[in-house]
Amino acid sequence: MAEVMAGPANPSSVHAAGRRALSRLRHARDITAMAMGAAPEDVVFTSGGTEANRLALAQADGPVAVSAVEHASVLEAGPAALIPVDADGVVDFDRLDDLLCSLRPALVSVMAANNETGVIQPVVEIARRCRAIGALLHVDAVQALGKMPTDMLALGADLVTVSAHKIGGPPGVGALAHRPGLALRPLQRGGGQEMGRRAGTENLPGIVGFASALSSIEAAEAGRVAVLRDRLEAGVPFATVVGQGAARLANTSCLILGGVRAEVQLMRLDLDGIMVSAGAACSSGKVAASHVLTAMGLDEVAARSAIRVSLGWASTAQDVDRFIESYSRLAGLATRAASPT
Ligand code: PLP
Repeated sequence: MAEVMAGPANPSSVHAAGRRALSRLRHARDITAMAMGAAPEDVVFTSGGTEANRLALAQADGPVAVSAVEHASVLEAGPAALIPVDADGVVDFDRLDDLLCSLRPALVSVMAANNETGVIQPVVEIARRCRAIGALLHVDAVQALGKMPTDMLALGADLVTVSAHKIGGPPGVGALAHRPGLALRPLQRGGGQEMGRRAGTENLPGIVGFASALSSIEAAEAGRVAVLRDRLEAGVPFATVVGQGAARLANTSCLILGGVRAEVQLMRLDLDGIMVSAGAACSSGKVAASHVLTAMGLDEVAARSAIRVSLGWASTAQDVDRFIESYSRLAGLATRAASPT
């Protein structure tokens, strides 16, 4: 990234520096395509997951259906019917079947794994149902990238979104991959970049950083993090683990501490040097009950008492133990405050 930022780096320029930039862009596209199980010409670089999601949903030639636990960039992309989820946050197949039959959507969007709970959706089965009625399936794999298989074939999807910052890459860059032969309609016109599917000079430093982060993903990391996550959850038996009955990503734990507002938990943990999120980190700052948790049937009080603990490549067993200690103290304080004597 530093090398790219040091010099002129417009892949559309015809001079030598431009040709070098084009070669870097092609190399980064090859790496990204490989990670997504797509052909290089079927990958469009974007300014992140949000734009890729919006580009994907713009491909619908008719009604759209999205799961009730999608990221805001999907939920607010346009009018869409909501597919309900069960108490673990997994798409309710009976309701999905009803919707596919009654609405006949042109496009269905279901995320690979949820950003607040880590709950994994049975995307392959959803893809089969979509294919049966000729609907396109878009999968937001932003949270899942690097933590479970997210290639187009494994997911059975027609469109897949990824974003760099979730795997340690730079923020502000992502990609949308599509199945071969799909004529992608651009959202952003006014330039021939990205084969006419996304106008604007490419963010080459970001794209190169993204490819570099993709190349650094270590398959064994998910196993190491799963051990830490299990240690963490076992250490806080007084908390409710959201989505415990479903398959979940190894790095995410959504915990409810009954009756203690998430923002209070956040501040207390922060004082101990522990950084966690309330609700969706993408929208932290606004303290509203999470739409994901309310879609799972949790009441307002429980939903407002949930925090998301994310573990990453830098997390250690000592970090987990420090969290357990601080969170247990917090739970103790809450219990004492609630007791009459
Ligand atoms: N989709 C999911 C599941 C996310 O968690 C996020 C944000 O982190 C996005 C989409 C948006 O991605 P970006 O921040 O790259 O626009």
